[in-house]
Parts: sequence; C-alpha cells; structure tokens
Amino acid sequence: MPYEKSRELFIQARQYMPGGVNSPVRAFKAVGRDPLFIARGEGALIFDEDGNEYIDYVGSWGPLILGHRHPEIIAALRTCLEIGTSFGAPTRLEIELARAIVEALPGVEMVRLVNSGTEATMSALRLARAYTGRNKIVKFEGCYHGHADFLLIKAGSGATTLGVPSSPGVPPNAAADTIVVPYNNLNALESIFTRHGHEIAAVIVEPVAGNMGVVPPVKGFLEGLREITQHYGALLIFDEVITGFRLSYGGAQELYKIDPDLTCLGKIIGGGLPVGAYGGKKHIMEKVAPEGPVYQAGTLSGNPLAVSAGLATLKVLKRPGTYEELERKSALLYQGMAEAAREAGLTLSFNRVGSMLCIFFTETPVVDYTTACTADTRRFAAFFQSMLEQGIYLAPSQFEAVFVSLAHTDEQIQKTVEAARKAFAAIKYT
Ligand code: PMP
Repeated sequence: MPYEKSRELFIQARQYMPGGVNSPVRAFKAVGRDPLFIARGEGALIFDEDGNEYIDYVGSWGPLILGHRHPEIIAALRTCLEIGTSFGAPTRLEIELARAIVEALPGVEMVRLVNSGTEATMSALRLARAYTGRNKIVKFEGCYHGHADFLLIKAGSGATTLGVPSSPGVPPNAAADTIVVPYNNLNALESIFTRHGHEIAAVIVEPVAGNMGVVPPVKGFLEGLREITQHYGALLIFDEVITGFRLSYGGAQELYKIDPDLTCLGKIIGGGLPVGAYGGKKHIMEKVAPEGPVYQAGTLSGNPLAVSAGLATLKVLKRPGTYEELERKSALLYQGMAEAAREAGLTLSFNRVGSMLCIFFTETPVVDYTTACTADTRRFAAFFQSMLEQGIYLAPSQFEAVFVSLAHTDEQIQKTVEAARKAFAAIKYT
C-alpha cells in the first residue's frame, strides 16, 4: 500500500508538535513504523491520506461505539450548530444528558460533566479525599486513569507497594499518597488496608481493565473491593471511562452488579467529541461546588456540541437489542480469531468482555500486569503490521483493546478473521 502522503505529513507534524502527535500512542512507536494520517471515516471504515481503506477497531480509542459519522449523531450536531457552540451558561441539553446518565448507571445519582477522562478521575479523587478527610488512594498496577500527577504512578520495585512516578515531572511527593496494588489480588489489597485502612480515601479501579490489554476481573474481585472499602470507610471509584455504556447500558457496574460510590465516565458519553463526567451518590456529589466546598470548574464543560453527540449516542444505545447485537458481533470476531490462531498452531491468550477484546502474544493466561508483560511485543508488532497491510486498523500496541462497534458488519468481521489467519501464519516463525 502507498504511504507517501502519511510519511510526508508526519515529517511536517514533527516540526510543530512533540513526536508529531497530540497523544503519544498515536505515533505508532510501539510497532516500529510511522503513523497513518487519517483523512476521514465512515461507519466501521477509515481512510488515510493516501486513500487506503481500513476496517477500524480503534474507534477513536473507544468513543465510537456506533462507528464513524453515525447519521443520528451528525443530525444532532447539525441541529446544535443552529443554536451555538458554547455559552458557559446552563442549557436544557445538559439536564437531558445528566438525566440519561443517572437513569442508566445504578451507582450514579448526580453527575458533573467535564471535558476528558483525565479531568473526571482527577476530580473524583479530589472529592473522595475531601469527603473522607483522608489523603491516600489505592490504584491497581496496569490500570490507567488519565495523566494527573498522582495517578501517573507505577508500582514500586520489589516488595514495596509505595508508588513511584512513571514520568519525569511528577514530583515524588505526588506519588507518596498513591499506593499501587496488583490487579485481581484481594490479598494484597487486604494487607494494605490492614496497615493503612484509616488513611485511605478511595480505591480507584477499571472494573474491566482496558489499558494493559483487556483483563477481566476474576470472580469475587469487584465484590471484594466493595466489601473492603465499605469496611474501612473508603470510597470505591469505578473508572468506567471505557466500560461505561460499552459493556452494557449501565456499564460494568450493571454487568457485575456492584454499587460503587463514585463513577468516572468519558468517551462514549461524548459520541466522539471531548467529554468526561464524574458522578455518584447524592450525599457525596453535593460536596461539589457550588453546592459544597470542593472546587472544580470548566469553561467548556457541558458544551452543547459534546452533549448533543453524547445524547444522540445514548439514544441509539438504549434501543432494545443493541447490546445483544454488539455481543453477537464481538463473539463472531473473537471465535474467528481464536480459531485462526489455533489453525496456525499458535497458543495465544485471548481475553474478551463484550466488545472489548485482546489477543496477548503469550501462552500465559493474563490476569494482571505481570502476566500481561509476558506478551511478546515484537510478535505483536509483526501481527499488527500484517493486519495493517491487509486493511485492518488495530490499536498500535499490545496493551490496548480491540473495540468492536455496532457499525462493523458480519462481512467486515469475516474479512478481519481472514486477514488474521494470514497474519498468524506469517508470524508463526518470527
Ligand atoms: N480512564 C480510563 C480507564 C481510560 O482508558 C482513559 C483514556 N484512555 C482515561 C481515564 C483518560 O481519559 P482521557 O484520555 O479522556 O483524558
């Protein structure tokens, strides 16, 4: 396939933007090639600047559960343009989206709209600290919650659980109150709570991890989190930025029947426009300014364009049968890919929850960050390259999800499976 135009644009982009991109993983570094510059999208397809066509399994990293340019989203945006793009004042539309979120998510009684997932988690943790009067927070190794200083923390070395900054520029004292625990490990969490229980404001978790590849919670893990946090008076925060409105209309909390104190949202609720939200129990949310003392604000928060696109998305998702259809398509892709790998004689670890899939290039079952890291990233890169050459656009990293959308047709899924069959055969000896 020709890539000249993308290559030329990347040279220009690097002159003006660090690494040529506005978010690091877009640069394709993990797969050792230059990124594609995308010219447009339609349904499940994207087209690059060289005119190449791809079946898209990134979906803008999760928001596009209806695919690109869904007619109802486009219509909602057109209507919105007639009234204006931002007022910095309350609008009727915001009530509609807030109501839709509250009605959908069992754990959410009140919600505040923000502009990104990062803002949502950062604000939810400020609120949790204010509400409990405690400083420490617990996060899980391999979970990503945006790039706020105190969340950009990895596990300390060896047996220590104290977090260390995972980026220069994060001061050590920003890491000092963040405790990092292995995902799916209740024993480790319990021992932390035994030692620090009364200093911990909150545990934040991706109920299905999507940022170390896809890692489902083992049986009892989420229930255990609920029990332990309740016992010690800490808040349980579900980061449903990916899973919200994806795993079911009521998110992972509905799927696993867990009632978190606070929930973070993003991606799907903005229908492809910048958005985020945090919400939860009324008695906690009432502490947020101006109702309460916890400050948090945003010039463009709740802006009509993002709210309109989000509302249009939720309206489609709420129709009967949508999640069954998404599950059917996702199962089709999963089964086809798993069979193709088996046929090629490759033993790989597949994880899937609903429309979140991951093929780990390891024989080890992946249940946490350590096991995710057993994946052969060089082999993944070869697989990625082969898929791309065959017109299949996957996330350019082993540690991301494959997102299925309602726009993917059975035919496109079949084509993807055929491509995977060839890709697996080609990388067998790499
Ligand atoms: N939480 C989770 C679970 C995420 O996956 C992400 C982003 N992928 C974020 C938070 C941060 O969201 P944003 O990129 O919108 O700041």
